Formats: sequence, C-alpha cells, structure tokens
Amino acid sequence: MKNLFLSLVALFIASTLASAQTGVFKAGAFAQDISPEDLPISINGNMKDGKATMVHDRIHARCIVLDDGITKLALVVCDSCMIPREVFDAAKKTVAEKIGIPATNILCSATHTHSAPTSTGVFQSEPEKDYPAFLSKKISLGIIEAHNRMVPAQIGWGVGSDPTQVFNRRWFIKPGMMNTNPFGETSDKVIMNPGYQNARVEKSAGPTDPEVSILSLKTKEGKHIALLANYSLHYVGGYPAISADYFGAFAEQIGILLDADRSFVGIMSNGTSGDVNNVNFAGMPPGRREPGEQIRVVASSVAKAAHKALGNIKYKNHVSLASEQKEIPLGVRLPSKADLERATDILTKANKTVLDTMPEIYARETVLLSKFPPQVPAIIQVMRIGELGICAIPCEVFTDIGLEIKRKSPLKPTFTISLANGYNGYLPTPEHHKLGGYETWRARSSYLETEASVKITSTLMGLLEKVKK
Ligand SMILES: [Zn+2]
Repeated sequence: MKNLFLSLVALFIASTLASAQTGVFKAGAFAQDISPEDLPISINGNMKDGKATMVHDRIHARCIVLDDGITKLALVVCDSCMIPREVFDAAKKTVAEKIGIPATNILCSATHTHSAPTSTGVFQSEPEKDYPAFLSKKISLGIIEAHNRMVPAQIGWGVGSDPTQVFNRRWFIKPGMMNTNPFGETSDKVIMNPGYQNARVEKSAGPTDPEVSILSLKTKEGKHIALLANYSLHYVGGYPAISADYFGAFAEQIGILLDADRSFVGIMSNGTSGDVNNVNFAGMPPGRREPGEQIRVVASSVAKAAHKALGNIKYKNHVSLASEQKEIPLGVRLPSKADLERATDILTKANKTVLDTMPEIYARETVLLSKFPPQVPAIIQVMRIGELGICAIPCEVFTDIGLEIKRKSPLKPTFTISLANGYNGYLPTPEHHKLGGYETWRARSSYLETEASVKITSTLMGLLEKVKK
C-alpha cells in the first residue's frame, strides 16, 4: 500500500514536471487597425514631406502572441516607414503591466511602407496630431487582444524562395563619372537607383536574398491562425495615400491562398533590405502601370512562394520559446566643425522653410545631427521558437548582413527583422561605407559608426548562442 502511494506520488511529480516542461502550446493573433483618425497627415519616406488626404487601404499593427506553458513571446509588425524606440517602449511597458509579458519578450517592428503617418522626424517630415502616442496605445491594445485570443495551437516554419522581386539598388559607377554628392564630394563609388540601363554604371554593388521565411500557426483542428513571413525587399510604393504597400497586400493574398477566415492574420515583416528594391535597372522600363498594380504583382508572387513553402512544413504540437536582448552603445558619425560651418552657410544662403536641393536638405540634417550625443544605445534582440531563430535590428539593414547572420547562426533556419524595437537609420557594412552612396550619407537616416554592423552581428551571435537549447 505504502509502495503504491509512493509510486503514485512519484508519478504525479513526474507528470507535473513533464507538463511544466511541455505545457500546452498556445498561440493567438490580431491585426489592430492603426490608420490615422485625423486627415490630412504627414507621410514620410521622401526628402520632402508628403500629406495623405485619404486612406487607400487600412494600416495595421499585426500581432502574434505565443505561449509554451512557461514563456510567452509577442511579435508585432506595424505598417509604418520607421518607428522610434520611445513608441515601442511605451507599448511594451503597458503590455508588461497589463498582461505580464516582459518587455524583453516583445519584438516590435515597422514594415517600411512609405505611405504611413510619420512617427519620427526624418528629412523634412515630422510627426503630427499625436500620432506616435496613438500608435503606441494601439500596439499595446493589439498585443493584448492577440493574447486574449490564444488557443491551443500547432506551429511550423519553413523557407521558400522568390528571386523575381528583389534587385540590389546600389550600382558601381564607371571611374570618373560620379556626380557630386550632397556634401560636395566626388569620392562615392556607387549610386543608388541609377535609372534603367544607365551607361555610366557597371554592375550592382551587392547581393539580394531571395528567401521567403515563414512561421505558421494553426489551431489543433487545423484552422489557420496566422502566418508571419519575412522577405528582404525595401518596399514597392505607388500610393500617395495611407497604404500598407505590398506588406498589407501580401497579408491579404496569403489569406486567400490559405482559404482562411476573417480572424486569420497574415504578416509580412521586412528582412534585410537596406540596399534592395523592386526595380530591375539592368532591364527595360516596364510599361505603364496602374496605381497599386506593382504592389499587387509583388504581393501575389511572394504569397505564392510562401504558400509553396507551407506545403513542406511539419507542424509540431509544442515547441519551447526563448528571448534575449542586449542594449549596446553605438558611436554616432558626428559632423566636424568644418562640416557644420559648410552646412550653416548653405542654409543661410537658402533661407527658406521647405528645402529643395540635396545639398540644402543634407545641410539641415548636418545641423540636426550636430546635436546628437557621441553614442546612442540600441536594442539588439533574438528570439528562439523551437529551432527557428529570429534576430531583430533597429536599422535598415543591408542584405549582406542578413545573409551573414543566416550563414553564421547556430539556429537553422534564422531570419532577421529590420526596423525593429526602434530606429537608428541605415546599417551598411564597413565595406559599403567605403563605397559611399545615399545609404551612407550622414543624416538622421544614416548616422551610426561605420563599424556598427560588425558590433551588431557579433552581439546577435552571442545572444543566439545563449537562447540555443
Ligand atoms: Zn528606406
């Protein structure tokens, strides 16, 4: 009798331990509308500010919450060009207070649509109508709703490919044919977006990453809850109104291909696309496109690749989750005294509120950057979902860097979400800094030290080793 009692106790302890280790895996998702309520509103992504007077298609903070029985993770992808750290931090704080998911277990990012309200000052656009505070609140509401919707789930991931929609936009220019850059120099070796079949350029200056990484969530009964994808394409563009660009169109397309119901949340996150766009400058210009036509072409192509990859997924009833982050100091390329004097001189001569020329616009950026501290803190984060690795970098990350992370990561597969947890401008490699070109030109859109990518990649590798099982 006593033996039976002891073995029952042992059995109870063993089963309790087992359920604590495996638990019930749960997932929930929600697409929170973040469209501005008050129009017109500033939209950014260009050298001059734009004003949206209408909503073409509604924009969202697309949220997923996962729970392995011990650890909860939240992933959010917002239809915005870039979102500053303060907006994300405030949302994370609310979520931590209300539902207990620690801020370090939340990954928030922006897609880089160029048709969304300005959330941080960049070039001649500034946030207005309290949109950043509105956005922050909506992100927290989205995560909380995704958390409310959690149900026992199956999970799987995979990698597809679509090489047809990505082109490196930086091109080597022939010796002696470089124009003067906004700082009055002719030392740049590459030019961004040279135009179709430009006789002055030789070849593109970097690779592309054709991978379409996917993470799929289904209920125990097999109903699709959400699909998070990752593709390294800067954006497509084409609407002068509020729009989620191809990122939103992908979400819709993949839902159609999966025959999913209205509660399904499709998500496209931005991979490492700092130097990659959708224009094939080696080819001939395409014929006339209707507004939004190219967005639909790209979304449909990438959604088909994601759908194909889904066919090879082996779903699991449980995976363990982990998250780690580190805040690292990164140096700022501060302007010199001579740079500042030149900039002040240009602005004095220009003497206008809306600047027209590139030297004027970059002169303004030089003055603004001269007030930056010598170092800024940046959140570098990784998540492990089963054997899948996800890296998060608060920059517009060059494709070379994403490919290196995929190659070196101890977790296979791994992908990187750009513009995550804050905004610290473009992230070229030190080699690309030497080549110059738009993405390296010092502005609030490109100000980190030239070695920043080396420091970030090495930090990520340390964090990936830490979360590795
Ligand atoms: Zn950009």
